[in-house]
Amino acid sequence: MATVKFRDVRKAFGQVEVLHGVSVDIEEGQFVVLVGPSGCGKSTLLRMLAGLEHITSGEIVIGDRVVNALPPKERDIAMVFQNYALYPHITVAENMGFSLMLKGAPKSDIEAKVRPAAEILGLTHLLDRYPRQLSGGQRQRVAMGRAIVRNPQVFLFDEPLSNLDAKLRVSMRSEIKNLHQRLKTTTVYVTHDQIEAMTMADKIVVMHDGIVEQVGEPLELYDRPANLFVAGFIGSPA
Ligand code: ADP
Ligand code: MG
Repeated sequence: MATVKFRDVRKAFGQVEVLHGVSVDIEEGQFVVLVGPSGCGKSTLLRMLAGLEHITSGEIVIGDRVVNALPPKERDIAMVFQNYALYPHITVAENMGFSLMLKGAPKSDIEAKVRPAAEILGLTHLLDRYPRQLSGGQRQRVAMGRAIVRNPQVFLFDEPLSNLDAKLRVSMRSEIKNLHQRLKTTTVYVTHDQIEAMTMADKIVVMHDGIVEQVGEPLELYDRPANLFVAGFIGSPA
């Protein structure tokens, strides 16, 4: 677990600045949701935290380290994407243990980490299957399992449920929250869905056109929105 800090973070693609000085403090073990309309810069912010995108100016701090110049694999972060990004030609167990295998971990060590992660996620009976033999929800669990076995300091989720049907989306929300209650790993979760943000977050960061409009607990935003944008966005149904 670690704290995460964005300090006046800016990002430009060519001449176009898309993040205009974002500052957010995330406490150790917190579940923080970045929410805002499509195109407001959520994924870009998350990708910079993961090291998949360079930051134009400002600082990103994980724990006590400024990570601006660190490559992704030195950041101790695991990211779960909406398209799962599973390898189709290897089994569920192999997908979950893949990053450990790349590090050259012995097979018995990999198994010792994959087993309990599979148990937490209810995947034990599916370990020998291939991704194409799984439902959407099961694939998403494998993607989470792959993140868990790495035992990272920080979990990142980028709209992990947007490819699932409405009913499954609701049950996966509580699965992800249960997982967080169990592991207490600092989590940054991106969604454009305000209901998801309201039901899952310890703290919500409302973004709009590359700036942070407000940071607060769900009820705080609902009761005391800082401006009309937050009032409209948090108040309107998905
Ligand atoms: P969100 O995840 O909130 O939908 P993004 O972070 O994906 O938003 O995008 C924020 C803005 O940055 C958008 O205007 C998008 O078009 C732009 N953008 C994102 N990635 C790139 C890129 N690689 N090159 C140019 N513009 C980009
Ligand atoms: Mg996005």
